[in-house]
Amino acid sequence: NLLDDIRRETRTSFLFIAHDLAVVEHISSRILVMYLGHVVEEAPARELVGSPRHPYTQALLSAVPTLDVNGRKRIVLPGDVPSPLSPPSGCPFHPRCPRSQPKCAAEAPPLVSPDGSARRCACFFAG
Ligand code: SF4
Repeated sequence: NLLDDIRRETRTSFLFIAHDLAVVEHISSRILVMYLGHVVEEAPARELVGSPRHPYTQALLSAVPTLDVNGRKRIVLPGDVPSPLSPPSGCPFHPRCPRSQPKCAAEAPPLVSPDGSARRCACFFAG
């Protein structure tokens, strides 16, 4: 809240880096989600949290604690984050992605906005 007050009073932009998406949503107007050094999704904060498109963003958001008893179903990813020194071929998320297809291991998906909106996603099969 202090950072947000400072941002408003000084009309400054911050780059805020964190792993807790609940905190990130609270403080941000725009969110970029990174995996293994790559931006995999970018969108206005409310849109990204309300309807995440990239499978990694969906898994991250499913891990945010909620008081809602009918809350989100947790998406548990298999395996560990690969070493950035020896990244996977194609899409860096493909060894752990629940939607992975053969194309994902061969090609890296570009970060694009198929509908021309302010949202961008790096996934061949984004939801
Ligand atoms: S491109 Fe394929 S592996 Fe990568 S996030 Fe999309 S579905 Fe998953």
